[in-house]
Amino acid sequence: MAQRYDDIVVGSGISGLTMALLLARAGRRILLLEKAGHIGGSMARFYRGGIPFDVGFHFTGGLQAGGILHDILSVLGIRERIRPVFLSGERSASFIFEDEGRAYDHPTGIAKIRKQFKQDFPGDASAVDRYFDMVESVCSRTPSLNLHSNVVAPPLLDEDFISLDDVLRGLTDNQKLRGLLSGYCMLYGVMPKEISFANHSRMCLSFYESIACLEKGGDSFVEAFTGAFEGLAVEVRCRTSIAELADIREDKANRFVLSTGEEVEAENCIFTIHPQEIVKLLPREQMSRAFVSRVASFEPSVGFFSVFAALEDGAVGPAAGEAIISLFPTSDVNELLDPSYRGDPALVLIKAVDSTGGVQGVQILAPSFAGHVAQWQDSRTGRRSKEYYAYKEQQTRRMMERVNKELPSYSGRLRVIDSASVLTFRDYLNSPDGSAYGVKQKIGQYNVVGKLPLRNCYAAGQSAVLPGVIGSMMSSLLVGRSVLGKDRYGVFVDKGS
Ligand SMILES: Cc1cc2nc3c(=O)[nH]c(=O)nc-3n(C[C@H](O)[C@H](O)[C@H](O)COP(=O)(O)OP(=O)(O)OC[C@H]3O[C@@H](n4cnc5c(N)ncnc54)[C@H](O)[C@@H]3O)c2cc1C
Repeated sequence: MAQRYDDIVVGSGISGLTMALLLARAGRRILLLEKAGHIGGSMARFYRGGIPFDVGFHFTGGLQAGGILHDILSVLGIRERIRPVFLSGERSASFIFEDEGRAYDHPTGIAKIRKQFKQDFPGDASAVDRYFDMVESVCSRTPSLNLHSNVVAPPLLDEDFISLDDVLRGLTDNQKLRGLLSGYCMLYGVMPKEISFANHSRMCLSFYESIACLEKGGDSFVEAFTGAFEGLAVEVRCRTSIAELADIREDKANRFVLSTGEEVEAENCIFTIHPQEIVKLLPREQMSRAFVSRVASFEPSVGFFSVFAALEDGAVGPAAGEAIISLFPTSDVNELLDPSYRGDPALVLIKAVDSTGGVQGVQILAPSFAGHVAQWQDSRTGRRSKEYYAYKEQQTRRMMERVNKELPSYSGRLRVIDSASVLTFRDYLNSPDGSAYGVKQKIGQYNVVGKLPLRNCYAAGQSAVLPGVIGSMMSSLLVGRSVLGKDRYGVFVDKGS
């Protein structure tokens, strides 16, 4: 007889882990499927020579008391298992515009940032104020940022229909200030002219309020969830995915054929994977032509070419308060995130927090797209041509030359350990295009979130609402609320908060 579960969750990144834990804590029996050999998706760290490196998690906002991530972790019952290291001081993050030869410091706390930016741009003080007022206003009117009132289809705001770029152009003629206020587009990988001001605000507010790394990076999340699964009915199967949705009756899938050939039954199946991968599994006759073409039209958000380096023995690099440095060759962020741009890329340097006292890892990220490595797209990790390795070496050398030239605190102190292209990310994370944040969230775009054309199948994940740890976890809470029902979810949220 086929094994029976209440819910199947597909994908074990931060979205799938959140969904599995939410439903299991509500007493449901869960089968969590992961295509890779380990759980965690972008959260899982990897080690080279004993040095930990992060794949897709370095820092987050929202962990301060009353912050959105603090609340989400409380509701899930795992807040105590996560130990944040807050970046504080006047230079939590720093943006350097190379064309101007000037660094702009970014303290944490909205009041402090406003003050700092107004000092840096005295002629534009009212534009700075207006910008932060607008960001706060959007977030206060966004139901998904409130765990009690989140719904899959919230009402749209006027700011959902105007781009970040248009808002900034209306506020100031100062290109540097516009570049600085667009700098966090790197957090979601969409050009300022393509993202709505509302989604930009929803992504950025928590980073303005506080920035924290975690003591064990993304592994902190993986360990917290794994620990919380103990004693709950969560069965995890790695190297397993869904091969077919079968026995479709009354717009429901009644059996699920796994890649192992086994068949299981479940009341619901929640996908936390890329929407274009979900569509491949849905029976063609269940989908409207409009739905298929909408999903096909989604473009990938930015990906990254990533250099993994270690601070040489004894070197400390920049002070702990300067863990994140963005190096921008131009203040035109539209250009820096344009797939056809071929000039020097933006670089984001992030020093890992490591409490073990071991050698510190530093990751250097440069925006990159599938088109940059198109000639090797048919190859797989470990089996690529020597031309590909030469490309990686050349990219790495160029990036390190810039770091050594522009950043005295790192100059000559970094030893390159490894590098990864968008193809590496694609293969490692089982995503179709190696983008960092799933699909590009463009202004006016309707994402795939919640119920799919089969009534008992749902979509969540970083492409559903917004990317990043917060956006991905929020998507699972929103969709989890649909699966559990408003009342059951409400009890759960009230208990946790
Ligand atoms: C270089 C980089 C740096 C980043 N830095 C940050 C940061 O500092 N802070 C932040 O908040 N966010 C950051 N992000 C973004 C963040 O990592 C993601 O938005 C988030 O982790 C996505 O979570 P997810 O669960 O939706 O997807 P994923 O983490 O991609 O998980 C999806 C999982 O599904 C699995 N899967 C795929 N297909 C199948 C299938 N058919 N069957 C079963 N399993 C399948 C995959 O193997 C994977 O484990 C970064 C991303 C990158 C790439």
